Amino acid sequence: YYSGLSRSVKARKYVLTKYFDGEPKKTDFKIVEEELPELKNGEILTEAEYLSVDPYMRAYMIGYKLPTDMIGGQVAKIIESRNEKFPVGKYVAGSFGWRTHTVCNPSEQPKQIFLPLTLLPELGSYPVSLGLGILGMPGNTSYFGLKEICKPKPGETIVITGAAGAVGSHVGQIGKILGCRVVGFAGTDDKCEYLIKELGFDHAYNYRTSNIKAALKEAAPKRVDCYFDNVGGEISTTIMNHMNHYGRIAVCGSISSYNDSILPKVTILQPAIVFKELKVEGFLVNRWVNRWEEGINANLNWLREGKLKYQERIYHGFDNMVEALNGILRGENTGKAIVKVK
Ligand code: NDP
Repeated sequence: YYSGLSRSVKARKYVLTKYFDGEPKKTDFKIVEEELPELKNGEILTEAEYLSVDPYMRAYMIGYKLPTDMIGGQVAKIIESRNEKFPVGKYVAGSFGWRTHTVCNPSEQPKQIFLPLTLLPELGSYPVSLGLGILGMPGNTSYFGLKEICKPKPGETIVITGAAGAVGSHVGQIGKILGCRVVGFAGTDDKCEYLIKELGFDHAYNYRTSNIKAALKEAAPKRVDCYFDNVGGEISTTIMNHMNHYGRIAVCGSISSYNDSILPKVTILQPAIVFKELKVEGFLVNRWVNRWEEGINANLNWLREGKLKYQERIYHGFDNMVEALNGILRGENTGKAIVKVK
């Protein structure tokens, strides 16, 4: 399992040097070269093939002391190994950050991470990049967030915002697998058409051009039992006011305000929560780190059975990470946005 590469390998990595102000800019980062150490027993050297861009990157960096290495998930090939469980040629998904090469010991991973280091399962003809999407962190966010927080029963109505993105499009498909009525809100007519025609959503509306109240009346005549909230803001208030008694809300994200330095105000939510006795619960996917494989395997089985479809928006080149991150904040992607490193 030890390839004995002739050294030395240098990594390129993004270091954040300025806090974001509005949209992230290339000048907020420096790209730095880093010499990597020789492997010690138990360690592996990986080369990134796909890097992930995710909304949390925009939201989280305000909490870090600068300068700091940019955080993020990647799918990488093991190119040198001194760990027999992680042989050369296999792929891992891990939270290595925006960098080309990494040396790490897979059994000494920190606990509080977005994406635990995992060896990718055998994917046959499926691309390894799925380890960043439906077979990775967003896939498990969808699986556990919907099943454990919304707990939908067959026949119930689920509403999803950010419905055409990595998480939203996946949540909707699981909703259909579980026998629910699924309604999505997304930012373009094309995305809505894709949700209905390709993914089997019962209804999908362009939130930029639709009257949300009228859409909900039409699509959810028996009102809403589960709301999977990816965006927050006023649309969430409107949806929560259209819920059934004992409705469940999984608060997954609030992308509508990630670029704002002053948080927008929305109509008060408490009356709906009280009088409808709603259960509102925020969550982070790493709550289920100990059940990570369960989610991956469930999604992989559904994929193989043809019940789960995916789309990827692929950006190209390590130097285009910032453009890709801004792409998801602007809504350029349908499905999962990823960057092919080479
Ligand atoms: P997406 O693939 O959904 O990409 C982001 C999408 O958000 C865009 O495509 C865009 O689509 C939409 N969007 C952007 N700005 C706005 C806006 N102002 N109002 C409404 N929609 C907007 O990303 P993910 O699927 O990876 O993530 C979805 C959500 O889930 C995010 O909020 C993210 O932070 C959260 N998340 C939370 C996790 C957790 O553990 N809690 C884990 C993973 C993700 P459109 O064209 O529809 O506007």
